[in-house]
Amino acid sequence: MFGAAWILFSDYVAERLASSDEALRVIQTYKGLAYVALTGALLYAVVLVLTRALARTHDRLRDHSAHLTRINRAHAILRSVTDVLLRDPDDTLLLESAARAVVDQGGFPLVWIALYDHDQRRLTRVATAGAEGLARGSGAPVHLTTADRSIITHALYRGQMQHALGDRDPLVARLAPAGRGLAAVGAFPLRGGGDTRGVLVIHSAEAELFTDEEEVLLLSRVADTLGLGLDFSHNRQTLDRLNYHDPITGVGNRNLVENRLAAALNHAAQRDTAVAMLVLDIDDFRAINDSAGREAGDAVLRLVSRILDGVMRPGDTIARLGNDEFGLVFHELPDANHASRLVGRVADRFPERAEVGGHELDLSVSIGVAVYPDDAQDAAELLSRAELALHSQPPGQRSAITYYAPEFDRRASEQRALESALRKADLDREFRLAWQPVVDPTAGRVCAAEALARWHSPELGEIGPARFIPLAEQSGRIRALGQWVLEHACRQAHAWNQAGHRIDIAVNIALDQLQDADFVDTVQQLLAPYADDEWTLLLELTESQFMADPKPVNDACRRLRALGCRIHLDDFGTGYSALNYLVHLPLDGLKLDRTFVQQIESDRGVHAITEAVVALAEKLGLEVTAEGIETEQQLVIVRQLGACNIQGFLFGRPMGADAVLGLAAQAPERVLAN
Ligand code: C2E
Ligand code: CA
Ligand code: CA
Repeated sequence: MFGAAWILFSDYVAERLASSDEALRVIQTYKGLAYVALTGALLYAVVLVLTRALARTHDRLRDHSAHLTRINRAHAILRSVTDVLLRDPDDTLLLESAARAVVDQGGFPLVWIALYDHDQRRLTRVATAGAEGLARGSGAPVHLTTADRSIITHALYRGQMQHALGDRDPLVARLAPAGRGLAAVGAFPLRGGGDTRGVLVIHSAEAELFTDEEEVLLLSRVADTLGLGLDFSHNRQTLDRLNYHDPITGVGNRNLVENRLAAALNHAAQRDTAVAMLVLDIDDFRAINDSAGREAGDAVLRLVSRILDGVMRPGDTIARLGNDEFGLVFHELPDANHASRLVGRVADRFPERAEVGGHELDLSVSIGVAVYPDDAQDAAELLSRAELALHSQPPGQRSAITYYAPEFDRRASEQRALESALRKADLDREFRLAWQPVVDPTAGRVCAAEALARWHSPELGEIGPARFIPLAEQSGRIRALGQWVLEHACRQAHAWNQAGHRIDIAVNIALDQLQDADFVDTVQQLLAPYADDEWTLLLELTESQFMADPKPVNDACRRLRALGCRIHLDDFGTGYSALNYLVHLPLDGLKLDRTFVQQIESDRGVHAITEAVVALAEKLGLEVTAEGIETEQQLVIVRQLGACNIQGFLFGRPMGADAVLGLAAQAPERVLAN
């Protein structure tokens, strides 16, 4: 534009300015020069303005790119800290990994994390990452006072990030005395669950780091994420304690065993090793609990868990599964045979003589064992099979060890079928009573008959009492069944009485029945209509029933005797059979168990004991019945020992009521000759 204007107007302007032709010529000469000079100046000014603008843009771009790098870096930090959070379960690991992630991703020279204990006002550096040797000091806790002013106290109390240049902050210097040459340091609060749990401290080589608002925001989010992580891990630990620990003994619980067992099996599958699952049960724990009290029971549980703990190798698991049952997981066994060695080691610790709550007792345990991979393929199955092995032990055994065998499963499923059939059994239709006569050999007459329950299940056929009685006891059905037996037995005795025969009836009573507060009253009502009859109701109880719940059982027996019932101790010779029971229990008689009677011929010791028992019983005025007499020889020996009533196949198997009547009607010689 300048050039065009010059071309169009310069001649015209020169002509108007020039006063003469001479002057016009001079002007024309200098006009070209002036043109060159003016354009030059103009161009210079334009270039100058443009380069200045360019330089400014370049600076802005450079700043922006640095900002972007920092933001990217902060995002990367956030990402890896989140990863850490998802990966590392426990606090220390979490914080150490997080500090390392911030250093690695952010390229910071030094990063550390301190946790704050609000009650003690103590700050402890727990995790540090960065160039080797940069942070010195022991990491010992630092006690904060109200006088402390620091970027850290600001972060802790105000919950806001603050930074300082260099490393002049006094608290920072005390907690992590760092080397020189660090340009800035920032403290970010770790907020979680309403409280500030600590600080994330970042040392930077660039002074401007903490002035970038967006970056500070992102780093604050890293700190917040960590705070949440701490909170989460704290909650998880509380939950873990509740979920995986047994409050009474402090060892694990069933959840823990299930968890650890699953992990152990995984491991074993990969390495071709074995895992042994042991389930232990304290023998007679119920009796300990009942006689010595709940607290003593708890003390026993703690003692047993301590003893078992002594057998554990690192990485093995011990837990209380429930009641008095403990579970032990032995992992990484070279092979299945190795299990028996460990089982032996556990068994060797028992019986242990212990004093609990002022009571001396022999603490023993029974053990069920199942081994991976032989017995089960998964954790739940292995545990349940170890339990099945334990529960397949005959009741009343002490210090028993049982290894799982496949037939236990079959038995268990039969048991379940039996249980369900028993639960819905119609007593009147499916049950009946068989009677086994008891003979007085001196008089040669049937003096009593024992009522023995018989069950014919429409689905399962004939089932013996040795199977259904324990089941009925477990399921609680025994009360109804026992009541049914009593009613029918009394009715039968009355019928025999009507027919002119005085035959006492012996009825087996279960513990559950005796523990029923109404039992004595029920018996009284039951007997009331037969007040004019001559027979007596004999109640047969075992030693274990007296032991299980001594006070109420003894009381019930005394009241029953007051009603005219007689109490006989059944199965004498099978349990502990302490002779002083005979003196102290409210008894009218005892029944020598058939296993005892069967040894009389062959075992002189048994013979001598029997002789002593019969003599003692006689002195105490107790009636003795020898049960299970099968041979003449046994009869002869038993009769030589003293005055005994006799019951056994020799005189009759359990039979129908009419058959008993038939026998009762026979002449004495015939009865004895049977
Ligand atoms: P128990 O009270 O010891 O009854 C005696 C058992 O020994 C009966 O078995 C009887 O048949 C058997 N027995 C009698 N004499 C001989 C003999 O000479 N040789 C042999 N080998 N055995 C003989 P059963 O009827 O199978 O009864 C088994 C157990 O079931 C009884 O043992 C008793 O504990 C229980 N039981 C039976 N009926 C009842 C009941 O109504 N209530 C309760 N609570 N338990 C019952
Ligand atoms: Ca009996
Ligand atoms: Ca018996």
